[in-house]
Amino acid sequence: MRGLAAGELLSAWESGRGLGRLEQPVAALCAWMPERSPDEVARLPIGDREALLLQLHAATFGPYLQGIAHCPACGQAVEFTLAVDVLPAVPDHDSSPAMRRLEKDGYVLEYRPPDTGDLVAVSSSHYASSARAQLVRRCSRVLVCPEGGSRDELPDAVLGALDVEIAKLQPAGDIEVGLSCPDCATAWNAALDVGSFVWEEIVIEARRLVFEVDRLARGYGWHEADILAMTPTRRRTYLEMVD
Ligand SMILES: [Zn+2]
Repeated sequence: MRGLAAGELLSAWESGRGLGRLEQPVAALCAWMPERSPDEVARLPIGDREALLLQLHAATFGPYLQGIAHCPACGQAVEFTLAVDVLPAVPDHDSSPAMRRLEKDGYVLEYRPPDTGDLVAVSSSHYASSARAQLVRRCSRVLVCPEGGSRDELPDAVLGALDVEIAKLQPAGDIEVGLSCPDCATAWNAALDVGSFVWEEIVIEARRLVFEVDRLARGYGWHEADILAMTPTRRRTYLEMVD
């Protein structure tokens, strides 16, 4: 699978700069998958989106994610390395956002996994519980409500069952990394925000590319497009000579 070319990476970085944290990964995927429209990418279920971003990462930056988390007990920075191929892949089932059905405790619901647009819509909510309730309202519809039940406030057991079904459909939507602190031996699970992780790598690489173009354009008078079209090896060799 091909990675983001230098020019595509810079375009992704440029178009994502003014966007919010939740939408930046969409800009990265749009540059990588020009055959899909931005609207189509924004409507990908979050789990599919994250799995595609992991593929983009592996093809562009290599097969490992290297990051840092902080120990919740003592604050110590803990480095971790994860192989992309042990993380959930793009589901091979049909993950189109068609409505699915759930029956629990007399309730019958239709639901679909959330997409980027849903997350953006509920992100202004200040309380996690309220954001969750809004997300459930956007992504599900109560078809049958038992006597004495409420359509507006679903019981925790029903919400829990909905979470379980969506997690099963979308294993890459909620990745946790098991970590332990070398200083105080605390063990914990850290949530991996794949979108922000990949976006951060794109920003670092884009800044490096802009720096390289700047040096080579000044040194040789070459145009940006010609410099970006070179293989990284050739670009770096010229850079060493210019320096
Ligand atoms: Zn610690």
